[in-house]
Amino acid sequence: MRPSSQPPPRRPATFNAAQAHAVETPPGPLLVLAGAGTGKTRVVIGRIARLVRKGAAPDRILAVTFTTKAAREMLARAGRSRNAARPEISTIHSLCARILRRHAARLGYPTRFAILDRGEQETIARRVLKELRVADAVLAPSQLLDRISRWKSAAIRPANAFETIPGDGPESWTLAAAGYRRYQDALRTAGAVDFDDLLLLVDELLTGHEPVRLAEAGRYDHVLVDEYQDTSAIQERILSALARDHRSLCVVGDDDQSIYAWRGAQVANILDFPARWPGTVTVRLEENYRSTPQIVRAANQLIACNSRRHGKTLVATATDGPDPIIIQAQDEADEARRVVGDLEGRLRAAEMPAHEAAILVRTAEQTRGPEQELRRRGIPYEVVGSRSFFDRREVKDVLAFLRLAVDPDDDLALARVANVPPRGLSGQTVQKSRATATGVGRSLWAELRAARAEVRLSAPALAGVEELESIVTSATTIPRGGAAAWLRALLERINYRPYLLAESADADEAETRWACVGELADALDAHERAAPRDGDTATSVRRFLDHLLLEVRETERFREQGKQRSQVRLMTLHAAKGLEFDCVWMMGLEEGLLPHHRALADGLAAVDEERRLCYVGVTRARRLLTLSMCLTRSKWGRKRPSRPSRFLYELTGQPEKFVAAPPDDVPAPAGGVGGGSTGTRGGRPSRGAAPGRATAPRGRRGKRG
Ligand code: ATP
Ligand code: MG
Repeated sequence: MRPSSQPPPRRPATFNAAQAHAVETPPGPLLVLAGAGTGKTRVVIGRIARLVRKGAAPDRILAVTFTTKAAREMLARAGRSRNAARPEISTIHSLCARILRRHAARLGYPTRFAILDRGEQETIARRVLKELRVADAVLAPSQLLDRISRWKSAAIRPANAFETIPGDGPESWTLAAAGYRRYQDALRTAGAVDFDDLLLLVDELLTGHEPVRLAEAGRYDHVLVDEYQDTSAIQERILSALARDHRSLCVVGDDDQSIYAWRGAQVANILDFPARWPGTVTVRLEENYRSTPQIVRAANQLIACNSRRHGKTLVATATDGPDPIIIQAQDEADEARRVVGDLEGRLRAAEMPAHEAAILVRTAEQTRGPEQELRRRGIPYEVVGSRSFFDRREVKDVLAFLRLAVDPDDDLALARVANVPPRGLSGQTVQKSRATATGVGRSLWAELRAARAEVRLSAPALAGVEELESIVTSATTIPRGGAAAWLRALLERINYRPYLLAESADADEAETRWACVGELADALDAHERAAPRDGDTATSVRRFLDHLLLEVRETERFREQGKQRSQVRLMTLHAAKGLEFDCVWMMGLEEGLLPHHRALADGLAAVDEERRLCYVGVTRARRLLTLSMCLTRSKWGRKRPSRPSRFLYELTGQPEKFVAAPPDDVPAPAGGVGGGSTGTRGGRPSRGAAPGRATAPRGRRGKRG
């Protein structure tokens, strides 16, 4: 165990024989297929470093990764040898955004296309459904977006969506197909794209425009991909198109950690890789360097329950640690109290620094309980990977101002802040102008200016347009590297802070909201300082906006920049992929939550995916793993008994306990894996909520049989 609050000592850059083989294999198709914590990401980093040492130009190396943590580490290590050129390390979505910016015109999109966030997508979906007179109960906006996203992931265009619906498919699908067409039309009219379009359009560019493919593929000599098991068919095509000529394509992944099938990811991509790339060198890694033997054993036991898998061996190399612990709580409030209480105790005892403690949950809503408890106890924490920050109204406002600065014809941005703070442009005026603008085929901004010139506006609206004009004009004179200063001055000039105060329930809320605005301005500052010096201010601001929208783990970046407090991490299992922590608490191990009830309804394959998700969570822990569950959980205001997750029994190796439980009972899991070794803190059972329940919870039972 490490002393608290000390940064981890730099491990010597050593590799075991199999890792060294993967690092040193000459450029060509290379597949590293191996279990959790075996050093796959480390191999990618090592390989980049070696390529550079052997003379490869760093900026002609492309690494695609899913986590900014990995990206940072890669940058730090691979980029050190030459100061100027650095490998291009990014997520697939930001890579595609950059490619599309360079060639959007070929597909009839403006170069300055906007990338919609989820809120804007929902606004459009809602409008489309209203036009189609579809009630929410039949098809809600989020459901429509879901369906559209599935179609897009399968590269199905609006024109073909109807054909994919089976004859006996529900009516909502037919409506969704109609909605898809209108949604896509609306995006095109606005010159905007959504996240899925980024991939779809780049795929179209690379498959249909050979000169574009040659130009883009020609930017790189080597392509490396982390977490390859979660690539979709489209992503795989894009990556292949980039690597086809030089064939230096290294992919690493773990089929047991494939957790994005619902988003179109195909495990087949990784398993069929050698067939698609003749001459592939395949390397398997078997030693887990991350976790204690206790954790590795539990993980192995769990994943062995999956039906279809390519058996892999995972051998622990770390020294022994405590057995995993199971906390059994009465209800969700009790669960949050006990989990955070346990965590706080260990923080006090300096068992780990705060940032080495992670709380993992299955669904985003589950963070509320532990968040509340962490706040109550004054423990600094951070929700990683959630988009909540960007769903904040003030953050969206400020982003809209930035978007206007680079492009006043960005209708969605203008509509958002035309009257923020109020400046005489009522919602009605804006809506009417938008309708007129669409009718005559110009932007909202052009229409407002025309209306002013033709004196078609009321006096207050006129004043409003004039203020907007001054905002837009001031944006054209932003000096290089001065965007953040410009933003701060703008917010002051338009009295945004007093506006927030007026809009907030109390001073505290206004303060928080203002702090979020400040955080954004700081991030812009940092971005400008770090960004490459090519291009003008607009390019740099646009890059910043792309970056913000695309980096799902954005919060991680804010923390990294300066205000370094060690914070507890709170995140969903999906967001935890690729990360590691000394101590991990996984909450809500109950049937219906993990495995999720939707998966239970969808059948065995879906439950297998939930098991892989659970496996990802378990294998994040280095030293201590705690699993918690409630005996009752409230749903729609009603307390219901919950059943322990089947995964608890699989982890402990005692499935028969689960099977043997009477159906109407609330059975207890079989104590910590190998027994509740932590005394009363973690393992102490709490009584079931219903008095007189026959099964006494057995939180501190003895050793595994
Ligand atoms: P995941 O499947 O969860 O993404 P991974 O296979 O990418 O895991 P890494 O994150 O690269 O695994 O490595 C897990 C941990 O083991 C890291 O802390 C890494 O530094 C360490 N590690 C890997 N290989 C070695 C080694 N040969 N010697 C010492 N430590 C190692
Ligand atoms: Mg990894």
